Amino acid sequence: MSCGELTCTDVVTAYLKKIEEKKHLNAFIEVFAAEALEKASSLDKKINNPDTWGKLYGVVIGVKDVLCYKDHHVGAASKILENYTAIYNATAIQKLLDQDAIIIGNLNCDEFAMGSSNEHSAHGKVLNALDESRVPGGSSGGSAVAVQAGMCMVSLGSDTGGSVRQPADFCGIVGLKPGYGRVSRYGLLAYASSFDQIGIFSQNIEDAATVLNVIAGEDEFDSTCSEAPVPDYSNIIHQQSTFKIAYFPECLQHPSLDKEIRENIEKKIQELQSNGHSVEPVNFEYLDYIVPAYYILTTAEASSNLSRYDGVKFGYRSAEPLDDLNALYKKSRSQGFGKEVKRRIMLGTFVLSTGYYEAYYAKAQQVRGLIADKTKEIFKEYDLIIMPTTPSTAFKFGEKSNDAVEMFLGDLYTVYANLAGIAGISLPLFKHSNGMPFGLQVLGNKMEEGKLLQFSNLMMNKH
Ligand code: GLN
Repeated sequence: MSCGELTCTDVVTAYLKKIEEKKHLNAFIEVFAAEALEKASSLDKKINNPDTWGKLYGVVIGVKDVLCYKDHHVGAASKILENYTAIYNATAIQKLLDQDAIIIGNLNCDEFAMGSSNEHSAHGKVLNALDESRVPGGSSGGSAVAVQAGMCMVSLGSDTGGSVRQPADFCGIVGLKPGYGRVSRYGLLAYASSFDQIGIFSQNIEDAATVLNVIAGEDEFDSTCSEAPVPDYSNIIHQQSTFKIAYFPECLQHPSLDKEIRENIEKKIQELQSNGHSVEPVNFEYLDYIVPAYYILTTAEASSNLSRYDGVKFGYRSAEPLDDLNALYKKSRSQGFGKEVKRRIMLGTFVLSTGYYEAYYAKAQQVRGLIADKTKEIFKEYDLIIMPTTPSTAFKFGEKSNDAVEMFLGDLYTVYANLAGIAGISLPLFKHSNGMPFGLQVLGNKMEEGKLLQFSNLMMNKH
């Protein structure tokens, strides 16, 4: 992330130019141009005193439209928050600012981070810069494309079931989801609170490690945030080591997996073995249950989290004259939420309702428990798990948008990490014969992002 001889103002000016050139990709919801230039010029005043620089001095960052940045609009790409301004900084944002980062704008995404294609945004779809007829992935599509197309150095997204790793895979960049609790969720607009985690998009592992070092760590404002000390990732990634790696044959044999993706991952396994790592098959008997469990639990949490958007305290309120409170709720929510969000609120309300709770919600919780136990067992023996990030490369717009179930099934490989609360990363190691990139997904145990990044750096530097 070094800028050499350039000033911060030069760097911001160059990114603003790029953002303008690539405007049609629709990655940004808002660009904070004047403010970014002002911050750059104030940082330039200490350009000759590197001792006074923060860890992210002059680093230009874009943030997903789900992170509160005080006095700036934040809206989860939803009409229901169209006029909402953040009244405080998310902890992650505050930490970036404290280390002299420059926040250049907020980035488009699927509404309330629900989706896999960025087709569900009140601000319109985001285009994949490598092939504009294809989706960038979701829900953090804008965050992925902003880094992919060089509109900022790094970006933040959120990952509840793959929303950082999957768009990184589709766009050919690095996407890191730390383990649950590694980064504070304070100031992150909630989708499913026991799954949500802030993640990082970057072009390389050094940048991801530097940013994680800054945003990770305990926070009195988020009781689920871990108090575990934050190791120096930037140092760890350069240490040499060999790893004990597991893979799940069920993942590679799954009928939905693209043949070329499978072959490339199989080849990678052999390559790793011949480079001295141990890579072994481990049976994972829960693969068929993880997508249903994920969609039951996350929609249940969403139905509760999103009940606060009622048109009363804040957010969109129907303009129609209404004579009772229930009608106000109904109209405001029907008009303010998009189709996918409504689908999930209804699904979530259903699985929590009397008579169905035991059959769906409680069952899915049991599945989550079994998966957590199994994961603990695996990490007693192995350092890491590898698998594909997604079953296919970036698909075309419209290809899956009329079939919600098909879209959900595309999350087969990513939701596991969120159910288990472990860390995951997608590494842009492969290219498909259709011209699109795809990634290797690597999973690491809770609080072991260091090991994950160390291995990732090795992979990105071709061992
Ligand atoms: N695609 C998944 C979903 O639609 C993941 C979303 C996310 O991680 N925010 O729920």
